Amino acid sequence: MVRIVPIELDTHFAEGTVNAFLAIGETITLIDTGNPGNESFQQLKTKLHKHNIDLKDIDHIVLTHLHIDHAGGVPLIQEEVDVPIYVHELAKCSLNADIHDFERDMLFFRQFMEECGADPLKHIVKQSYKEEKWQNVSYLKEGDVIPIGGHNFEVEHVPGHSQVDIMLWDPQTGDTFAGDHIIKAFSVNAFIEPPIPGNTAVLSHCYSTVSLLKKSAACH
Ligand SMILES: [Zn+2]
Repeated sequence: MVRIVPIELDTHFAEGTVNAFLAIGETITLIDTGNPGNESFQQLKTKLHKHNIDLKDIDHIVLTHLHIDHAGGVPLIQEEVDVPIYVHELAKCSLNADIHDFERDMLFFRQFMEECGADPLKHIVKQSYKEEKWQNVSYLKEGDVIPIGGHNFEVEHVPGHSQVDIMLWDPQTGDTFAGDHIIKAFSVNAFIEPPIPGNTAVLSHCYSTVSLLKKSAACH
């Protein structure tokens, strides 16, 4: 029996809050981590403590995708505990990116703006490269099975919102962690991103994830 506990964390984005989830069973899994920065980190720890969970109790963290309101908490968590991180294999490029990759991505956005007839100087927020290396990262792919709270969940690659989105699905119960693949309050944005080298996902793959969602819903 896995107990699933939503951990609601503040964000500065339109949705106001984002949910991480605790799955408590034979093992303890944290799904997503909230925003970067100490404020979100302290909020996460406080909310974990309300369920008598400390960071050191978490066996592993699974990330639904790499957007900062879901994965931004990893560096501060790993400063305190060496907890394993699981994320889709296409995230490897981003996590190993160096300054050359950063500059290539910035060039992509500049060219994209110009092709759209927009002035990149006005519309791109200036960013500078910041090195950030995670430890103890394992990569997941479509069809993998991962224990969440000690119970087996299937990994489904669901590109659309981002290229590395995964859903975690228990075929027996229909329990599904969908990340931002579906959002209750409004339509999900498909983020414009530089293509990941080796990413073969195409639109038909995105459509196929819709049938997976229906399958998941049908279990309830
Ligand atoms: Zn997102």
